[in-house]
Amino acid sequence: MDRRSFLKTSALGGTAAAATSLAAPAYAQGKRTLTMVTSWPRGFAVLDDAASYMEEMVGAMSDGQLTIEKKAPGELVGALEVFDAVSSGQADMYHSADYYYIGQHPGYAYFTAVPFGGTAQEVTNWYYHGGGEELHDELGTIFNLKGLLAGNSGSQSGGWFRKEIASAADFNGLKFRMPGLGGKVLGKLGASVQNIPGGELYQALSSGALDGLEWVGPMADERAGFQEVAKVYYTAGFHEPGSALAASVNLDVWNDLTPQHQAILRNASMAVTHYQLAETLSNNGAALARLQAQGVKTLQFSDDVWDAFGKASAEVMDENMGDELFAKIRKSFEESLANSASWINKSDGYYVQQRVRVLGG
Ligand code: CA
Repeated sequence: MDRRSFLKTSALGGTAAAATSLAAPAYAQGKRTLTMVTSWPRGFAVLDDAASYMEEMVGAMSDGQLTIEKKAPGELVGALEVFDAVSSGQADMYHSADYYYIGQHPGYAYFTAVPFGGTAQEVTNWYYHGGGEELHDELGTIFNLKGLLAGNSGSQSGGWFRKEIASAADFNGLKFRMPGLGGKVLGKLGASVQNIPGGELYQALSSGALDGLEWVGPMADERAGFQEVAKVYYTAGFHEPGSALAASVNLDVWNDLTPQHQAILRNASMAVTHYQLAETLSNNGAALARLQAQGVKTLQFSDDVWDAFGKASAEVMDENMGDELFAKIRKSFEESLANSASWINKSDGYYVQQRVRVLGG
């Protein structure tokens, strides 16, 4: 057998195996269970909370006819292998952050967060009323996925450091964890950037494998325990101003679901976004105060550092413009952002300024 026909046979063998593994979980007596692989250890604050809420809601909304069986990292596949597992049919759906998969396609950054991107509300506006969901599905046709946004942790912290960042030059040589296009931006500033799964971050920071990291925000970061090993915390970051999660489904599995079960999954995913955003925003303030009480110094990056983030971000975004679908997603996102911002600044933005002026705060 020559190499060419061997490859062809292997590919066919792979397809047959995938089809068999997909056939197994089909409806049995009207019921169906979907295996959901996640990137979060069980009980991990904010992230596993969102995945568990999705699991709970789908079972309750379908009266037990459609259930989700959640698998944490290591139970079926590794934390960052969930995308490929669902794309290939090894698992039915995943709960993860799509910007972990910019290696598969850079457009996936937009379905978590991009540097200088949208707030949680702006991302949601784009996704449901600005063409975002359709573009998630267009990307999904390449990877055999139906996209569903399922979570938003709001504006994420700038991250944990051992020393203060006095200027952008302090990123030079820093071993730092930041996924997605934000990580590429820090790379332009000279940082040695890695993407390490959440469950492994505490160990990496305490061992010195990392000099610093970004994870989520005060509530999730406090539970992860980073304050035990680093004492400088920047509270605003450029990289994830409204960070979404996704619960995307293998497209063959999705197409095989009843319209009712598709509607349940889509609406449960929308509920997860609302639930998780409220969870983080209502807990972050108190968590930050506890971190400060444990000796954590909280800071904001200087304007010069923000300017350096801005310059490097523009370069990173432009470098991906050779990809037609990335360019299409970027255009759609930025148009939606401009439309959202023009009203939000005149309404919510102006109102909050006035409330602070009149009542203080
Ligand atoms: Ca993050």
